[in-house]
Amino acid sequence: MLDALWFDPTEMLIGGTWQAAADTLALTNPSDGSHLADIARGTSRDIDAAVTAAQAARAGDWGRMTALERGRILTEIGRKVLNRVDTLAEIEAHDVGKPLTQARADAVALARYMEFYGGAADKVMGETIPYLDGYTVYTLREPHGVTGHIVPWNYPMQIIGRSVGAALAMGNACVLKPAEEACLTALAFARICNEAGLPDGALNVVPGLGAEAGAALAGHPHVQHISFTGSVRTGALVQQAAGAHVVPVTLELGGKSPQLVFEDADIDAALPFLVNAGIQNAGQTCSASSRILVQRGVYDAVRDRMAEAYASLSVGPAMNDLRIGPLISARQKDIVTGFLNGGADLKIAAQGYLQDAPDTGAYVLPTLFQDVPPDHSLARDEIFGPVQVLIPFDTEQEAVRIANGTDYGLVASIWTANGARQMRLAKALQAGQIFINNYGAGGGVELPFGGVGRSGHGREKGFEALYGFSTLKTVAAHHG
Ligand code: NAD
Repeated sequence: MLDALWFDPTEMLIGGTWQAAADTLALTNPSDGSHLADIARGTSRDIDAAVTAAQAARAGDWGRMTALERGRILTEIGRKVLNRVDTLAEIEAHDVGKPLTQARADAVALARYMEFYGGAADKVMGETIPYLDGYTVYTLREPHGVTGHIVPWNYPMQIIGRSVGAALAMGNACVLKPAEEACLTALAFARICNEAGLPDGALNVVPGLGAEAGAALAGHPHVQHISFTGSVRTGALVQQAAGAHVVPVTLELGGKSPQLVFEDADIDAALPFLVNAGIQNAGQTCSASSRILVQRGVYDAVRDRMAEAYASLSVGPAMNDLRIGPLISARQKDIVTGFLNGGADLKIAAQGYLQDAPDTGAYVLPTLFQDVPPDHSLARDEIFGPVQVLIPFDTEQEAVRIANGTDYGLVASIWTANGARQMRLAKALQAGQIFINNYGAGGGVELPFGGVGRSGHGREKGFEALYGFSTLKTVAAHHG
Protein backbone atom coordinates (compact mmCIF):
# COMPACT_ATOMS: atom_id res chain seq x y z
CA MET A 1 0.00 0.00 0.00
CA LEU A 2 1.02 3.61 -0.52
CA ASP A 3 3.45 4.65 2.23
CA ALA A 4 1.98 8.15 2.45
CA LEU A 5 -1.35 6.72 3.67
CA TRP A 6 -1.18 7.09 7.46
CA PHE A 7 -4.67 5.67 7.96
CA ASP A 8 -6.81 2.69 6.96
CA PRO A 9 -8.56 3.72 3.70
CA THR A 10 -11.24 1.03 4.02
CA GLU A 11 -12.87 2.89 6.90
CA MET A 12 -15.55 5.56 6.62
CA LEU A 13 -16.30 8.31 9.11
CA ILE A 14 -19.75 8.36 10.69
CA GLY A 15 -20.51 10.37 13.81
CA GLY A 16 -16.86 10.71 14.77
CA THR A 17 -16.20 6.96 14.54
CA TRP A 18 -14.07 5.38 11.85
CA GLN A 19 -15.77 2.16 10.88
CA ALA A 20 -15.57 -0.60 8.29
CA ALA A 21 -18.19 -0.99 5.57
CA ALA A 22 -19.80 -4.33 4.71
CA ASP A 23 -17.94 -4.37 1.39
CA THR A 24 -15.01 -2.63 -0.31
CA LEU A 25 -14.13 -1.23 -3.72
CA ALA A 26 -10.70 -1.32 -5.38
CA LEU A 27 -8.88 1.89 -6.34
CA THR A 28 -6.54 1.86 -9.34
CA ASN A 29 -3.45 3.98 -9.87
CA PRO A 30 -4.11 5.49 -13.33
CA SER A 31 -0.39 6.06 -13.96
CA ASP A 32 0.24 2.32 -14.36
CA GLY A 33 -3.06 0.51 -13.82
CA SER A 34 -1.87 -1.12 -10.58
CA HIS A 35 -4.05 -1.70 -7.52
CA LEU A 36 -3.66 1.29 -5.20
CA ALA A 37 -5.91 0.61 -2.21
CA ASP A 38 -9.32 -0.63 -1.16
CA ILE A 39 -11.98 1.77 0.02
CA ALA A 40 -15.34 1.39 1.72
CA ARG A 41 -18.37 0.66 -0.45
CA GLY A 42 -20.88 2.65 1.57
CA THR A 43 -24.55 1.71 1.28
CA SER A 44 -27.82 3.57 1.68
CA ARG A 45 -27.82 2.29 5.29
CA ASP A 46 -24.43 3.95 5.90
CA ILE A 47 -25.69 7.18 4.35
CA ASP A 48 -28.71 7.00 6.63
CA ALA A 49 -26.45 6.56 9.68
CA ALA A 50 -24.29 9.49 8.51
CA VAL A 51 -27.34 11.75 8.13
CA THR A 52 -28.54 10.77 11.60
CA ALA A 53 -25.07 11.54 13.00
CA ALA A 54 -25.10 14.92 11.24
CA GLN A 55 -28.51 15.71 12.75
CA ALA A 56 -27.14 14.83 16.18
CA ALA A 57 -24.14 17.12 15.61
CA ARG A 58 -26.46 19.97 14.71
CA ALA A 59 -28.45 19.35 17.89
CA GLY A 60 -25.27 18.98 19.96
CA ASP A 61 -21.85 20.59 20.36
CA TRP A 62 -21.48 21.63 16.73
CA GLY A 63 -24.88 23.30 16.55
CA ARG A 64 -24.18 25.24 19.76
CA MET A 65 -20.84 26.65 18.64
CA THR A 66 -20.53 30.32 17.87
CA ALA A 67 -19.45 31.45 14.42
CA LEU A 68 -16.13 32.52 15.94
CA GLU A 69 -15.53 29.03 17.34
CA ARG A 70 -16.39 27.40 14.02
CA GLY A 71 -14.06 29.78 12.24
CA ARG A 72 -11.20 28.95 14.61
CA ILE A 73 -11.63 25.22 13.95
CA LEU A 74 -11.64 25.75 10.18
CA THR A 75 -8.53 27.89 10.44
CA GLU A 76 -6.84 25.16 12.47
CA ILE A 77 -7.84 22.58 9.84
CA GLY A 78 -6.23 24.84 7.22
CA ARG A 79 -3.03 25.01 9.26
CA LYS A 80 -2.89 21.24 9.62
CA VAL A 81 -3.56 20.76 5.90
CA LEU A 82 -0.62 23.06 5.15
CA ASN A 83 1.59 20.92 7.39
CA ARG A 84 0.68 17.88 5.31
CA VAL A 85 0.75 19.37 1.83
CA ASP A 86 3.46 17.05 0.55
CA THR A 87 1.76 13.93 1.87
CA LEU A 88 -1.62 14.95 0.49
CA ALA A 89 -0.02 15.73 -2.87
CA GLU A 90 1.63 12.33 -3.03
CA ILE A 91 -1.64 10.57 -2.20
CA GLU A 92 -3.53 12.59 -4.83
CA ALA A 93 -0.88 12.02 -7.49
CA HIS A 94 -1.24 8.26 -7.03
CA ASP A 95 -5.03 8.32 -6.83
CA VAL A 96 -5.99 10.85 -9.53
CA GLY A 97 -2.87 10.76 -11.71
CA LYS A 98 -2.17 14.47 -11.26
CA PRO A 99 1.44 15.51 -11.80
CA LEU A 100 2.89 16.14 -8.34
CA THR A 101 3.15 19.93 -8.75
CA GLN A 102 -0.56 20.17 -9.64
CA ALA A 103 -1.52 17.85 -6.78
CA ARG A 104 0.47 20.05 -4.42
CA ALA A 105 -1.32 23.15 -5.68
CA ASP A 106 -4.66 21.43 -4.93
CA ALA A 107 -3.55 20.70 -1.35
CA VAL A 108 -2.48 24.32 -0.87
CA ALA A 109 -5.86 25.43 -2.27
CA LEU A 110 -7.65 23.15 0.23
CA ALA A 111 -5.78 24.87 3.05
CA ARG A 112 -6.59 28.27 1.57
CA TYR A 113 -10.33 27.44 1.47
CA MET A 114 -10.19 26.56 5.16
CA GLU A 115 -8.36 29.81 5.94
CA PHE A 116 -10.80 31.85 3.87
CA TYR A 117 -13.95 30.27 5.28
CA GLY A 118 -12.44 30.16 8.76
CA GLY A 119 -11.97 33.91 8.59
CA ALA A 120 -15.36 34.51 7.01
CA ALA A 121 -17.44 32.41 9.41
CA ASP A 122 -18.19 35.28 11.81
CA LYS A 123 -18.60 37.93 9.14
CA VAL A 124 -21.88 36.80 7.60
CA MET A 125 -24.53 39.23 8.73
CA GLY A 126 -28.19 39.87 8.24
CA GLU A 127 -29.64 43.34 7.81
CA THR A 128 -32.22 45.60 9.37
CA ILE A 129 -35.03 46.66 7.08
CA PRO A 130 -36.76 50.07 7.41
CA TYR A 131 -40.47 49.21 7.67
CA LEU A 132 -43.80 50.39 9.02
CA ASP A 133 -43.97 52.54 12.10
CA GLY A 134 -43.96 50.35 15.22
CA TYR A 135 -41.97 47.50 13.65
CA THR A 136 -38.36 46.41 13.82
CA VAL A 137 -37.47 44.03 11.01
CA TYR A 138 -34.22 42.17 10.56
CA THR A 139 -32.87 39.11 8.79
CA LEU A 140 -30.91 36.15 10.14
CA ARG A 141 -28.62 33.91 8.09
CA GLU A 142 -29.05 30.36 9.36
CA PRO A 143 -27.55 27.03 8.30
CA HIS A 144 -29.70 24.70 6.22
CA GLY A 145 -29.01 21.88 8.69
CA VAL A 146 -27.62 18.72 7.12
CA THR A 147 -25.90 19.29 3.78
CA GLY A 148 -24.92 16.60 1.27
CA HIS A 149 -21.74 16.96 -0.80
CA ILE A 150 -21.27 14.76 -3.86
CA VAL A 151 -17.78 15.26 -5.20
CA PRO A 152 -16.14 14.11 -8.46
CA TRP A 153 -12.68 12.73 -9.06
CA ASN A 154 -11.00 15.54 -10.98
CA TYR A 155 -10.21 18.00 -8.15
CA PRO A 156 -11.21 16.21 -4.93
CA MET A 157 -9.32 18.50 -2.56
CA GLN A 158 -10.38 21.78 -4.16
CA ILE A 159 -14.02 20.79 -4.46
CA ILE A 160 -14.18 19.50 -0.89
CA GLY A 161 -12.53 22.73 0.25
CA ARG A 162 -14.98 25.00 -1.46
CA SER A 163 -18.16 23.15 -0.61
CA VAL A 164 -17.52 21.54 2.77
CA GLY A 165 -15.52 24.59 3.91
CA ALA A 166 -18.34 27.02 3.20
CA ALA A 167 -21.01 24.68 4.57
CA LEU A 168 -19.15 24.16 7.87
CA ALA A 169 -18.45 27.88 8.20
CA MET A 170 -22.22 28.47 8.22
CA GLY A 171 -22.76 25.75 10.84
CA ASN A 172 -24.17 23.00 8.65
CA ALA A 173 -23.30 19.37 9.39
CA CYS A 174 -21.99 17.66 6.27
CA VAL A 175 -22.26 14.23 4.69
CA LEU A 176 -19.58 13.88 2.02
CA LYS A 177 -19.73 11.25 -0.72
CA PRO A 178 -16.42 11.35 -2.61
CA ALA A 179 -16.01 9.78 -6.05
CA GLU A 180 -15.40 6.04 -6.20
CA GLU A 181 -12.39 6.61 -8.49
CA ALA A 182 -10.58 8.99 -6.13
CA CYS A 183 -11.44 9.37 -2.49
CA LEU A 184 -8.20 9.01 -0.53
CA THR A 185 -7.66 12.72 0.07
CA ALA A 186 -11.29 13.04 1.22
CA LEU A 187 -10.51 10.46 3.90
CA ALA A 188 -7.20 12.15 4.71
CA PHE A 189 -8.98 15.50 5.03
CA ALA A 190 -11.52 13.98 7.43
CA ARG A 191 -8.68 12.60 9.58
CA ILE A 192 -7.16 16.08 9.68
CA CYS A 193 -10.54 17.54 10.69
CA ASN A 194 -10.65 15.04 13.59
CA GLU A 195 -7.16 16.12 14.69
CA ALA A 196 -8.16 19.79 14.51
CA GLY A 197 -11.03 19.23 16.93
CA LEU A 198 -14.03 19.33 14.61
CA PRO A 199 -16.87 17.93 16.73
CA ASP A 200 -18.15 14.42 15.97
CA GLY A 201 -20.76 14.28 13.23
CA ALA A 202 -20.03 17.75 11.83
CA LEU A 203 -18.33 16.00 8.90
CA ASN A 204 -19.19 12.45 7.88
CA VAL A 205 -17.53 10.73 4.94
CA VAL A 206 -19.12 7.77 3.18
CA PRO A 207 -17.27 6.59 0.06
CA GLY A 208 -19.15 4.38 -2.36
CA LEU A 209 -20.70 4.04 -5.77
CA GLY A 210 -22.71 6.87 -7.26
CA ALA A 211 -25.78 4.76 -7.91
CA GLU A 212 -25.71 3.45 -4.33
CA ALA A 213 -24.28 5.88 -1.76
CA GLY A 214 -24.58 8.93 -4.05
CA ALA A 215 -28.21 8.31 -4.98
CA ALA A 216 -29.08 7.56 -1.34
CA LEU A 217 -27.62 10.91 -0.26
CA ALA A 218 -29.27 12.91 -3.06
CA GLY A 219 -32.67 11.43 -2.25
CA HIS A 220 -32.40 11.39 1.55
CA PRO A 221 -35.46 13.02 3.16
CA HIS A 222 -33.44 14.56 6.02
CA VAL A 223 -30.78 16.28 3.92
CA GLN A 224 -31.59 19.97 3.51
CA HIS A 225 -29.16 21.00 0.76
CA ILE A 226 -27.16 19.14 -1.88
CA SER A 227 -24.00 20.39 -3.49
CA PHE A 228 -23.05 18.38 -6.58
CA THR A 229 -20.12 18.68 -8.97
CA GLY A 230 -19.84 16.32 -11.92
CA SER A 231 -21.52 15.40 -15.17
CA VAL A 232 -24.69 16.94 -16.57
CA ARG A 233 -26.40 13.55 -16.70
CA THR A 234 -25.76 12.76 -13.03
CA GLY A 235 -26.46 16.35 -11.99
CA ALA A 236 -29.93 16.10 -13.50
CA LEU A 237 -30.54 12.86 -11.57
CA VAL A 238 -29.37 14.47 -8.34
CA GLN A 239 -31.64 17.47 -8.89
CA GLN A 240 -34.60 15.17 -9.52
CA ALA A 241 -33.90 13.12 -6.40
CA ALA A 242 -33.51 16.24 -4.24
CA GLY A 243 -36.58 17.77 -5.87
CA ALA A 244 -38.74 14.94 -4.53
CA HIS A 245 -38.15 16.43 -1.06
CA VAL A 246 -38.04 20.05 -2.29
CA VAL A 247 -34.38 20.27 -1.32
CA PRO A 248 -32.24 23.02 -2.96
CA VAL A 249 -29.24 21.95 -5.00
CA THR A 250 -26.11 23.64 -6.24
CA LEU A 251 -25.02 22.05 -9.51
CA GLU A 252 -21.54 22.65 -10.85
CA LEU A 253 -21.47 20.75 -14.11
CA GLY A 254 -19.32 20.81 -17.20
CA GLY A 255 -18.30 23.38 -19.75
CA LYS A 256 -17.02 24.10 -23.22
CA SER A 257 -15.35 27.31 -22.26
CA PRO A 258 -13.99 29.56 -25.02
CA GLN A 259 -11.09 32.00 -25.19
CA LEU A 260 -11.61 34.75 -27.76
CA VAL A 261 -8.38 36.09 -29.26
CA PHE A 262 -8.68 39.33 -31.25
CA GLU A 263 -6.16 40.80 -33.68
CA ASP A 264 -5.12 43.49 -31.19
CA ALA A 265 -4.40 40.97 -28.40
CA ASP A 266 -1.02 40.56 -26.75
CA ILE A 267 -0.32 37.09 -28.15
CA ASP A 268 2.81 36.61 -26.04
CA ALA A 269 0.80 37.17 -22.88
CA ALA A 270 -2.07 35.00 -24.09
CA LEU A 271 -0.11 31.99 -25.27
CA PRO A 272 0.56 30.21 -21.94
CA PHE A 273 -3.08 30.67 -20.91
CA LEU A 274 -4.41 29.45 -24.25
CA VAL A 275 -2.55 26.16 -23.83
CA ASN A 276 -2.51 25.63 -20.05
CA ALA A 277 -6.22 26.22 -19.65
CA GLY A 278 -6.84 23.32 -22.00
CA ILE A 279 -4.34 20.78 -20.80
CA GLN A 280 -4.16 21.36 -17.04
CA ASN A 281 -5.15 18.19 -15.17
CA ALA A 282 -5.12 16.45 -18.58
CA GLY A 283 -8.11 18.57 -19.59
CA GLN A 284 -10.27 17.00 -16.86
CA THR A 285 -11.34 20.37 -15.55
CA CYS A 286 -14.90 21.67 -15.64
CA SER A 287 -13.55 25.14 -16.44
CA ALA A 288 -11.04 23.87 -19.02
CA SER A 289 -10.81 26.08 -22.07
CA SER A 290 -11.45 23.61 -24.86
CA ARG A 291 -12.32 26.15 -27.60
CA ILE A 292 -9.87 28.76 -28.87
CA LEU A 293 -11.59 31.29 -31.15
CA VAL A 294 -9.07 33.37 -33.09
CA GLN A 295 -9.64 36.37 -35.36
CA ARG A 296 -8.56 35.61 -38.92
CA GLY A 297 -5.69 38.14 -39.09
CA VAL A 298 -3.73 36.42 -36.28
CA TYR A 299 -5.13 32.92 -36.73
CA ASP A 300 -2.10 31.38 -38.45
CA ALA A 301 0.32 32.95 -35.97
CA VAL A 302 -1.66 31.76 -32.93
CA ARG A 303 -2.08 28.28 -34.41
CA ASP A 304 1.65 27.98 -35.13
CA ARG A 305 2.67 29.15 -31.68
CA MET A 306 0.16 26.90 -29.94
CA ALA A 307 1.33 23.99 -32.11
CA GLU A 308 4.91 24.68 -31.07
CA ALA A 309 3.84 24.65 -27.40
CA TYR A 310 1.90 21.41 -27.90
CA ALA A 311 4.90 19.67 -29.44
CA SER A 312 6.76 20.20 -26.14
CA LEU A 313 3.99 18.79 -23.90
CA SER A 314 5.31 15.68 -22.11
CA VAL A 315 2.89 13.04 -20.82
CA GLY A 316 3.80 10.44 -18.20
CA PRO A 317 3.34 9.07 -14.69
CA ALA A 318 2.10 11.53 -12.08
CA MET A 319 5.12 11.05 -9.84
CA ASN A 320 7.43 12.01 -12.74
CA ASP A 321 5.78 15.42 -12.54
CA LEU A 322 5.65 16.15 -16.27
CA ARG A 323 3.25 18.62 -17.86
CA ILE A 324 0.46 16.05 -18.18
CA GLY A 325 -0.36 12.85 -16.29
CA PRO A 326 -2.74 10.04 -17.18
CA LEU A 327 -6.51 10.41 -17.30
CA ILE A 328 -8.39 9.20 -14.24
CA SER A 329 -9.20 5.74 -15.62
CA ALA A 330 -9.18 3.39 -18.59
CA ARG A 331 -12.88 4.26 -18.97
CA GLN A 332 -12.11 7.96 -19.30
CA LYS A 333 -9.35 7.12 -21.77
CA ASP A 334 -11.93 5.25 -23.89
CA ILE A 335 -14.28 8.25 -23.79
CA VAL A 336 -11.55 10.70 -24.85
CA THR A 337 -10.19 8.32 -27.49
CA GLY A 338 -13.71 8.10 -28.90
CA PHE A 339 -13.73 11.89 -29.31
CA LEU A 340 -10.29 11.84 -30.93
CA ASN A 341 -11.52 9.23 -33.40
CA GLY A 342 -14.56 11.42 -34.00
CA GLY A 343 -12.14 14.11 -35.18
CA ALA A 344 -10.73 11.91 -37.96
CA ASP A 345 -12.21 14.34 -40.51
CA LEU A 346 -10.32 17.26 -38.93
CA LYS A 347 -6.77 18.46 -39.24
CA ILE A 348 -4.48 18.04 -36.24
CA ALA A 349 -2.21 21.06 -35.70
CA ALA A 350 0.01 19.31 -33.13
CA GLN A 351 0.21 16.69 -30.41
CA GLY A 352 2.39 16.14 -27.35
CA TYR A 353 4.50 13.08 -26.66
CA LEU A 354 4.68 10.20 -24.17
CA GLN A 355 7.66 10.00 -21.83
CA ASP A 356 8.22 6.79 -19.83
CA ALA A 357 4.47 6.17 -19.84
CA PRO A 358 3.63 2.49 -19.21
CA ASP A 359 1.15 0.85 -21.61
CA THR A 360 -0.96 -0.05 -18.59
CA GLY A 361 -1.60 3.63 -17.73
CA ALA A 362 -4.57 5.72 -18.94
CA TYR A 363 -2.64 8.04 -21.26
CA VAL A 364 -3.81 10.03 -24.26
CA LEU A 365 -1.78 12.53 -26.25
CA PRO A 366 -2.74 16.18 -25.89
CA THR A 367 -4.18 17.13 -29.25
CA LEU A 368 -4.80 20.49 -30.92
CA PHE A 369 -7.27 20.47 -33.82
CA GLN A 370 -7.37 23.36 -36.29
CA ASP A 371 -10.05 24.93 -38.52
CA VAL A 372 -12.83 23.19 -36.62
CA PRO A 373 -16.40 24.03 -37.70
CA PRO A 374 -18.31 25.43 -34.68
CA ASP A 375 -21.04 22.82 -35.10
CA HIS A 376 -18.62 19.85 -35.03
CA SER A 377 -19.09 17.60 -31.98
CA LEU A 378 -15.48 18.34 -30.89
CA ALA A 379 -16.45 22.03 -30.77
CA ARG A 380 -19.73 21.48 -28.91
CA ASP A 381 -19.40 18.52 -26.52
CA GLU A 382 -17.42 18.42 -23.31
CA ILE A 383 -14.53 15.99 -23.91
CA PHE A 384 -12.87 16.07 -20.48
CA GLY A 385 -9.46 15.28 -21.89
CA PRO A 386 -6.44 17.29 -23.17
CA VAL A 387 -8.07 18.28 -26.44
CA GLN A 388 -8.52 21.79 -27.81
CA VAL A 389 -10.07 23.05 -31.02
CA LEU A 390 -9.06 26.17 -32.95
CA ILE A 391 -11.92 28.05 -34.61
CA PRO A 392 -11.31 31.09 -36.85
CA PHE A 393 -13.69 34.08 -36.88
CA ASP A 394 -13.91 37.41 -38.70
CA THR A 395 -16.06 39.78 -36.65
CA GLU A 396 -16.84 40.42 -33.00
CA GLN A 397 -20.48 39.48 -33.59
CA GLU A 398 -19.48 36.18 -35.13
CA ALA A 399 -17.15 35.45 -32.21
CA VAL A 400 -19.95 36.06 -29.69
CA ARG A 401 -22.35 33.87 -31.68
CA ILE A 402 -19.88 30.98 -31.77
CA ALA A 403 -18.85 31.44 -28.13
CA ASN A 404 -22.49 31.36 -26.98
CA GLY A 405 -23.35 28.55 -29.37
CA THR A 406 -23.06 25.57 -27.00
CA ASP A 407 -25.33 24.29 -24.23
CA TYR A 408 -22.75 25.32 -21.62
CA GLY A 409 -21.78 28.58 -19.97
CA LEU A 410 -19.15 28.23 -17.27
CA VAL A 411 -16.17 30.44 -18.13
CA ALA A 412 -15.12 32.67 -21.05
CA SER A 413 -12.08 34.79 -21.68
CA ILE A 414 -11.45 37.78 -23.94
CA TRP A 415 -8.01 38.72 -25.26
CA THR A 416 -8.08 42.24 -26.65
CA ALA A 417 -6.53 45.65 -25.97
CA ASN A 418 -9.79 47.40 -26.88
CA GLY A 419 -11.43 48.54 -23.63
CA ALA A 420 -14.85 49.11 -25.13
CA ARG A 421 -14.83 45.63 -26.64
CA GLN A 422 -13.81 44.17 -23.28
CA MET A 423 -16.86 45.75 -21.66
CA ARG A 424 -19.24 44.79 -24.49
CA LEU A 425 -18.15 41.18 -24.52
CA ALA A 426 -18.14 40.82 -20.73
CA LYS A 427 -21.87 41.49 -20.99
CA ALA A 428 -22.57 39.59 -24.20
CA LEU A 429 -20.86 36.31 -23.32
CA GLN A 430 -23.04 33.80 -21.48
CA ALA A 431 -20.92 32.39 -18.67
CA GLY A 432 -20.59 32.48 -14.88
CA GLN A 433 -17.07 33.89 -14.98
CA ILE A 434 -15.53 36.23 -17.57
CA PHE A 435 -11.80 36.87 -17.70
CA ILE A 436 -10.27 39.81 -19.55
CA ASN A 437 -6.70 39.35 -20.77
CA ASN A 438 -6.19 36.31 -18.52
CA TYR A 439 -7.82 32.96 -17.91
CA GLY A 440 -8.84 31.81 -14.44
CA ALA A 441 -7.11 34.65 -12.54
CA GLY A 442 -5.15 32.04 -10.61
CA GLY A 443 -8.32 30.28 -9.47
CA GLY A 444 -8.62 32.40 -6.31
CA VAL A 445 -10.90 30.99 -3.63
CA GLU A 446 -12.39 34.49 -3.31
CA LEU A 447 -14.02 34.42 -6.76
CA PRO A 448 -17.63 33.19 -6.98
CA PHE A 449 -17.86 30.29 -9.41
CA GLY A 450 -20.67 28.50 -11.21
CA GLY A 451 -22.42 28.36 -14.52
CA VAL A 452 -25.45 29.09 -16.62
CA GLY A 453 -27.28 26.70 -18.94
CA ARG A 454 -26.07 23.10 -18.75
CA SER A 455 -23.08 24.24 -16.70
CA GLY A 456 -25.39 24.31 -13.70
CA HIS A 457 -26.72 26.79 -11.21
CA GLY A 458 -25.84 28.22 -7.81
CA ARG A 459 -22.47 29.66 -6.89
CA GLU A 460 -19.62 28.21 -4.90
CA LYS A 461 -16.38 29.86 -3.77
CA GLY A 462 -15.99 33.32 -2.36
CA PHE A 463 -18.39 34.93 0.08
CA GLU A 464 -21.28 34.10 -2.22
CA ALA A 465 -21.08 30.42 -1.25
CA LEU A 466 -21.87 31.32 2.35
CA TYR A 467 -25.24 32.61 1.18
CA GLY A 468 -25.82 29.40 -0.78
CA PHE A 469 -25.07 27.29 2.28
CA SER A 470 -27.48 29.24 4.47
CA THR A 471 -31.09 30.22 4.48
CA LEU A 472 -32.49 33.68 5.20
CA LYS A 473 -35.02 34.22 7.96
CA THR A 474 -36.94 37.49 8.22
CA VAL A 475 -37.97 38.59 11.71
CA ALA A 476 -40.62 41.31 12.06
CA ALA A 477 -41.23 42.50 15.62
CA HIS A 478 -44.25 44.70 16.36
CA HIS A 479 -43.62 46.83 19.41
CA GLY A 480 -45.93 49.74 18.76
P1 NAD B 1 -20.41 11.62 -12.41
O1 NAD B 1 -21.12 12.90 -12.56
O2 NAD B 1 -21.19 10.39 -12.71
O3 NAD B 1 -19.83 11.47 -10.91
C1 NAD B 1 -19.64 12.57 -10.04
C2 NAD B 1 -20.06 12.15 -8.63
O4 NAD B 1 -21.44 11.80 -8.65
C3 NAD B 1 -19.32 10.91 -8.09
O5 NAD B 1 -19.11 11.07 -6.70
C4 NAD B 1 -20.32 9.79 -8.33
O6 NAD B 1 -20.16 8.71 -7.45
C5 NAD B 1 -21.63 10.50 -8.08
N1 NAD B 1 -22.80 9.87 -8.69
C6 NAD B 1 -22.84 9.09 -9.80
N2 NAD B 1 -24.11 8.68 -10.03
C7 NAD B 1 -24.87 9.22 -9.06
C8 NAD B 1 -26.27 9.18 -8.78
N3 NAD B 1 -27.12 8.49 -9.52
N4 NAD B 1 -26.72 9.88 -7.71
C9 NAD B 1 -25.88 10.59 -6.94
N5 NAD B 1 -24.55 10.66 -7.15
C10 NAD B 1 -24.06 9.98 -8.20
O7 NAD B 1 -19.10 11.71 -13.27
P2 NAD B 1 -18.24 10.52 -13.89
O8 NAD B 1 -19.09 9.41 -14.38
O9 NAD B 1 -17.22 10.16 -12.91
O10 NAD B 1 -17.58 11.30 -15.12
C11 NAD B 1 -18.22 11.31 -16.39
C12 NAD B 1 -18.17 12.67 -17.03
O11 NAD B 1 -18.63 13.68 -16.11
C13 NAD B 1 -16.79 13.15 -17.43
O12 NAD B 1 -16.40 12.66 -18.66
C14 NAD B 1 -17.00 14.65 -17.43
O13 NAD B 1 -17.53 15.06 -18.65
C15 NAD B 1 -17.98 14.89 -16.35
N6 NAD B 1 -17.35 15.34 -15.09
C16 NAD B 1 -17.42 16.66 -14.81
C17 NAD B 1 -16.82 17.14 -13.65
C18 NAD B 1 -16.83 18.59 -13.29
O14 NAD B 1 -16.00 19.03 -12.51
N7 NAD B 1 -17.76 19.36 -13.79
C19 NAD B 1 -16.16 16.27 -12.78
C20 NAD B 1 -16.14 14.90 -13.08
C21 NAD B 1 -16.76 14.46 -14.25
